[in-house]
Amino acid sequence: MTHPISDIAIIGTGPVGLITAITLAKETNFQINLFGPKPDENFLAKDTRTTAFMAPSIVLLEKCNIWSDCKENASPLKHLRMIDDCGSLIRAPDCHFSCDELNMTAFAQNIPNSDLNKALISHIENTYQIKWIETQAVTKVKNIDDTIEITTQENETYRAELCVGADGKNSICRSATGIKTTEWQYDQTAIACSFTHQSPHNATSTEIHRKTGPMTLIPLEEHRSSLVWSLTPQDAEKVVALDDQQFSSLLYENSHAILGTITSVEPRVAFPISGLKLEKFAENKIALVGEAAHVIPPIGAQGMNLGLRDAAHLAEILKDHASLKGKIQTIEDKYNVSRKSDIFSRTFVVDILNKSLLLNNISLKTMRSAGLTALRNFKQLRQMIMQQGLGDEQSLPELMKTNF
Ligand SMILES: Cc1cc2nc3c(=O)[nH]c(=O)nc-3n(C[C@H](O)[C@H](O)[C@H](O)COP(=O)(O)OP(=O)(O)OC[C@H]3O[C@@H](n4cnc5c(N)ncnc54)[C@H](O)[C@@H]3O)c2cc1C
Repeated sequence: MTHPISDIAIIGTGPVGLITAITLAKETNFQINLFGPKPDENFLAKDTRTTAFMAPSIVLLEKCNIWSDCKENASPLKHLRMIDDCGSLIRAPDCHFSCDELNMTAFAQNIPNSDLNKALISHIENTYQIKWIETQAVTKVKNIDDTIEITTQENETYRAELCVGADGKNSICRSATGIKTTEWQYDQTAIACSFTHQSPHNATSTEIHRKTGPMTLIPLEEHRSSLVWSLTPQDAEKVVALDDQQFSSLLYENSHAILGTITSVEPRVAFPISGLKLEKFAENKIALVGEAAHVIPPIGAQGMNLGLRDAAHLAEILKDHASLKGKIQTIEDKYNVSRKSDIFSRTFVVDILNKSLLLNNISLKTMRSAGLTALRNFKQLRQMIMQQGLGDEQSLPELMKTNF
C-alpha cells in the first residue's frame, strides 16, 4: 500500500530520534512520520545506561516541555573528579572541577535512559503533528522523483520530502546517503549498571583512568550511582557473568572503595565500543542525527549531548521554511556547515583521550599528564575546558541557550 507524502520521515525510535521528532514538531508546522518499534516498559528496562545531560541539553528539553516529566528522576552532577590509576611511570595528578567555578548550580543532570525514554514516548503520544508508524524495521530508503521512499519490513511504502536518519550505529539511512564513512573498533567493551552504596557521592562524578579505559561513577540519588566501566572485551565477558556478590566485591575493590560498601547492583549490560566519522551529515534528501552521524566512546558524557545538538540545529534550519519543496539542497548545505566543527572536534578529542589511556605510548602519556597538571593548577584553563565540555557557547543553537 502507498501512503500520502509527508513532509518529514524520521527513521529510528531511540532517544535521539524521539527528541528530534519533538524538537521539529515544536519549531515547525511540518507533518512528521516517525518510523520504528514502540518499546514497552520491559524493553526500556533493558537499557541499564544513564545519560548525563549537560546544561545546554537541559535548556532544550525544558524548551520542548520534556524536562518537567524527567526531572524527578534526574540527579545533579556538581563536581567532577579524575583519578589516574593507569599504573604507568608518569602518574597524572588527580584533577577536580566544580560547577561553582562557572557560577552554575550543576554541570549536568544524570537520568536513567529508561525514565528518559518513557517521558519521550508519552510526550510524542500527545503531539498531533507526529504520527508514529509502528514497524519492526525500515528495510529500504531510496530517492524517487523529488521525494524519498521508505519501505517497512511489513511491506508498506511511504514517501516524504525529507528523511531524518536516527537509526543508530548501523544506520541504513547513512548507507542510502552514500556519504564517505570511516568506522573503527576499540579493544574495549563498556559495562553499564546502577548500584547502591554506603557513602554519599556528594553530587560528584568520578572518572578513574585505567589502562583499559575509564571507570566512571556517576551520581544518581544520594546513595546510588551509575557505572560505566571500560574493559577489554574478554574481561567484560567474565565480569558480566559474575553473580551480584562477586560483582559488588570487584567493583568495590576497583573503585578503591571511594563510595564505601556496595550493597546492591542492577543487571550488568555490555556495550562494545567503536568509533565512526562521516565526511558530512546530509545528502540525498537525508539528514543524519545521533549515532547514525557520529559514534564516540562513552568518555565525558558527550554522545547523546551531541545528538541533541544535531536535533536543535536541524530544527532551527527547518523553521525558516514554510514548505520543503525545492529547499532540500539549501537545508542540507546549512546542516552540513552547522554540524561540521562540533562533531569533528568532539570525535577527535574523545578519541585522543581514550587512546592516551589504551596505548602504551610514552608521548601520549606525557602529554596527558602535563595537560592534567596544567588543569589542576590553572583556574582559567579549567574554566575554559569545562565550558568546552558543556558545548561551545558561541556555536550553540538558540534552542539550547538560556534566554537571560
Ligand atoms: C555505556 C554508555 C554510556 C553513555 N553515557 C552517555 C552520557 O552520559 N551522556 C551522553 O551524552 N551520551 C552517553 N552515551 C552515548 C549515548 O548513549 C548515545 O549517543 C545514544 O544512545 C545514541 O542514541 P541514538 O538514538 O542515536 O541511537 P540508538 O539508541 O542506537 O537508537 C537507534 C534506534 O534506531 C532503531 N533502528 C535501527 N535500525 C532501524 C531500522 N532499519 N528501522 C527502524 N528503526 C531502526 C533502533 O532500534 C533504535 O531504537 C553513552 C553510551 C554508552 C555505550
